[in-house]
Amino acid sequence: MKKQLFLLWAFLFMFFLSACNGANNICVDKNSISFPIGGGEENVSVTADGSWSVKDCPDWVTTETQEGMILIRTARNETGAPREGDIVLAGKDDVTATIHVKQATKCTHITPASDKVEFDKEGGTQTIAIDTDGSPQVEAPEGFTATYDNGTLSVTAPANEAGSKRGEIKLTCEDQSATIYATQKGNVCQRCGGSGKITCPKCNGKGLVHVYVAPEMRDIVGSEQPCEKCGGNWDGTTDAGSVWRKGSGRIKCPDCGGTGQ
Ligand SMILES: [Zn+2]
Ligand SMILES: [Zn+2]
Repeated sequence: MKKQLFLLWAFLFMFFLSACNGANNICVDKNSISFPIGGGEENVSVTADGSWSVKDCPDWVTTETQEGMILIRTARNETGAPREGDIVLAGKDDVTATIHVKQATKCTHITPASDKVEFDKEGGTQTIAIDTDGSPQVEAPEGFTATYDNGTLSVTAPANEAGSKRGEIKLTCEDQSATIYATQKGNVCQRCGGSGKITCPKCNGKGLVHVYVAPEMRDIVGSEQPCEKCGGNWDGTTDAGSVWRKGSGRIKCPDCGGTGQ
């Protein structure tokens, strides 16, 4: 019976310690937060081995604490100047954790993590992280849609049954801007592989065709003539002999009409 009582007291003692004593360790998952001019809110998760509370906070920041979490809010910065300050969380004695908070007064930069986004012909949605202290406006080219929200640009392209396409996505905020190049693959002509040209069937790509030439003329004009199907021609006859240009050996793809799609 005494043993049970001891265990009970031990349990209550431990419970008392953990419930009422301030934390010996406080850990936050973000040490610094930058808010845009328009303000916003951000959650910071707090890991601690005991109780903690907000000891210091700039007067332009509001906080709300929950179990293992602190919600930080700022309103629009109307001061005309950037501002910053520290939120200090305090536990036992002098145990603290600090979250540095900054707020811009105008957009100073728009920096995308990548300046291009590429889609297959199936399309889809891709995201690009945008480092900025403003709230950029987004302009997307035809065939793409783009939206910006809280540090992330989402770009969507529908399936593309036409040829490949490209365009520029523009992000602007006050006097700052950034450009992201969007491309999407499209259908490719099976016959020409997208080049728009195939080997000339008449000359087999040589640009010259064999013709019958009387034996006494062969030394003068040879037994080959320019292939007219792939652009060869006779420029005329001069005193020095015949002048001609052979064909390119390639003709416009009849399946796609030369577009490659
Ligand atoms: Zn073709
Ligand atoms: Zn030819």
